[in-house]
Amino acid sequence: MANETQSNSGGGGIENQNSFAVIVVLPLLFALALIVLLTIACLLPKCNGETDESKEKRRQKRLEKLNSTIKAERFVDWATKERKLRPDAPPFASVLCVICLEELDDASQIRGLGCHHVFHQRCVDDWFGRWNEYCPLCHRRIMPGEKRAKNEPTAGLPPPVAFMV
Ligand SMILES: [Zn+2]
Ligand SMILES: [Zn+2]
Repeated sequence: MANETQSNSGGGGIENQNSFAVIVVLPLLFALALIVLLTIACLLPKCNGETDESKEKRRQKRLEKLNSTIKAERFVDWATKERKLRPDAPPFASVLCVICLEELDDASQIRGLGCHHVFHQRCVDDWFGRWNEYCPLCHRRIMPGEKRAKNEPTAGLPPPVAFMV
């Protein structure tokens, strides 16, 4: 009888230890994991806020650079200059801004890129501000004189083969 009680209580001890592990340790680990996750979740928006802010600053700088490199002008002024530069070009009737798909009229504020493609100022600013480096039509670099990627076509220049003849 005494032996039975001992073994019972002994068995109970191991059981108690096991249930202690299940009842206390596991929820503790769970809570810890939860705290870590919550901390990360709380910290992340702050980090994002900071990067967003510096991103916005860089975006503004980009746009300033664009503004000083490619001046905004009225479409009619740009078209007059283009006509003088390229008398053989097809007439500028119903030119579309391919970003918003609206027709450019004479009074539209536009930016004419180095590749002779033209877009609304607001459209190309938005496009360039979203970290796009290339013309949406011909994929030449919007900002001239910047470091070229390999195999990139040279804007507006004839291929060097012409000089080898
Ligand atoms: Zn547009
Ligand atoms: Zn282009």
